[in-house]
Amino acid sequence: MREVIARHGLSASKALGQNFLFDEQLLNRIAAIPGSLDGKAVLEVGPGPGGLTRALLRVGARVTAIEMDRRCLPALAELGEAFPGQLKVVEGDALALDHGALMGEPFAVLSNLPYNVGTALFTRWLSGANWPPQWTSLTLMFQLEVAQRIVAQPGSGAYGRLAVLAQWRSSAKLAMKVHRSAFTPPPKVMSAIVHVVPGAMPEGVSPAVLERVTEAAFGQRRKMLRQSLKGVQGAIEALDSLGIDPTRRAETLSVADFVAVARILGSQVA
Ligand code: SAM
Repeated sequence: MREVIARHGLSASKALGQNFLFDEQLLNRIAAIPGSLDGKAVLEVGPGPGGLTRALLRVGARVTAIEMDRRCLPALAELGEAFPGQLKVVEGDALALDHGALMGEPFAVLSNLPYNVGTALFTRWLSGANWPPQWTSLTLMFQLEVAQRIVAQPGSGAYGRLAVLAQWRSSAKLAMKVHRSAFTPPPKVMSAIVHVVPGAMPEGVSPAVLERVTEAAFGQRRKMLRQSLKGVQGAIEALDSLGIDPTRRAETLSVADFVAVARILGSQVA
């Protein structure tokens, strides 16, 4: 990979959140996280010079890669030639594209995401109205601190909206920590890979209502629920009917508790 970068004159751009991975063993381990990808459709966001892309192609994946830095396109074209028929490169901004329409079939997502767009894409993939979604799993690099918020359990300071969003109809686990020295250039913080698999959608729960409840509850996370949920019509009564003490704070409620509150509120968003 270093040779590819040198030959194509690619220097990492800070503005594009570029921190490249070159260690082949590490890249092979990342490509193995979702299980066998042989013959499967994979969406990769931000392939850069193609380190992870190559690992995915090697295990037989059919990769669609969205990259907005056109300087990377010649290196990716070369990679496509080495794996005929397996790689489609789309030049563009992943935030502006309809991934389902682009893929046209179920797909796994793997990405060493640019940190600045990572959470936005993650939130979008998890917020879809249609469930199960078209993606079969998400295997994504985040800053360690964000990864810990995604997999956090109740009672911890990291537990909040992101954990509820990632866990209410999916299972999310921290698959691998990645040291900052694995990247070129090394970022300031440690990273980790999160693996998310969609699960069953709880019946009678509106995603928008659940989002409204968690937004209000964690928006004032140090306050008691009877205070933070004041503005959500029917929420205090819902706590009462579930036997949840309204003097508790948001971070003590389980994901199932939030789901139960949202179910009682039905489809109304107040
Ligand atoms: N996957 C490569 C690796 O692991 O070595 C590169 C990872 S680098 C952290 C992130 C890549 O995402 C860069 O190549 C950057 O140009 C690209 N990128 C940044 N924002 C993007 C966006 N909105 N849509 C598509 N690609 C983007």
